[in-house]
Amino acid sequence: MIIAVDGPSGSGKSSTARGVATRLGLRYLDTGAMYRAVTWSALEHNLDLDDTEVVAERARAVELGISTDAQHAHFTADGIDVTEAIRDPRISASVSKIATNLDVRKELISRQRAIIDDAQPTGGIVVEGRDIATVVATDAELKVLLTADTDARLARRKAELAEGAVTAEQLRDQIVRRDADDATVSQFQVASDGAVTIDSTHLSLEEVIDVICRLAKEAEAAPRDRES
Ligand code: C5P
Repeated sequence: MIIAVDGPSGSGKSSTARGVATRLGLRYLDTGAMYRAVTWSALEHNLDLDDTEVVAERARAVELGISTDAQHAHFTADGIDVTEAIRDPRISASVSKIATNLDVRKELISRQRAIIDDAQPTGGIVVEGRDIATVVATDAELKVLLTADTDARLARRKAELAEGAVTAEQLRDQIVRRDADDATVSQFQVASDGAVTIDSTHLSLEEVIDVICRLAKEAEAAPRDRES
């Protein structure tokens, strides 16, 4: 089983996808962490992020360790633990530049598909990102577009960060500007064919997880179009 969860920054995708994977005993893939890890590596090598060729070369070369354990996030880049470092505001500020590089996307999408394939014998995977339902795993049994209004997304991201870690302006840049940049390559603001939109503005995390788990059970029980 593949469950795709797409949506904008601060929509609650990560907590939701992790919660669903934990409850259903599935693997979990945070594709945003992969773009963040490549950004970290490019910055570490002092690359000019506008040099798309050099950055794409780095994306192809970097050895990524991506855990798919919903309860233990752990990411490495060239053997270095970057689990914490990739959440730094400096990474959030630059990641869209990496994610809009089409050669980087090609490389990471291929790695994501390999991780998804590897998870199938274990029962399946919940995959979270921007383009999972539309590009990475178009055959997912369940496709969810998770949304929330801008004020709710700003408030959630603020609550995740340490007091005073970012200014109001940086926060808006991380959410609103980043979504606008990301939208130039992924249509994550509009539900794709067959996707269910869940507006989480007035729902608790547990309520969203409940809805998705119920939809997953229904999707599992329903005959598959592609198998008929
Ligand atoms: O989800 P998260 O905020 O960690 O994602 C970081 C960035 O990675 C996004 O702002 C976007 O630029 C990029 N991304 C993407 N496609 C995905 C997942 C993330 O372009 N599937």
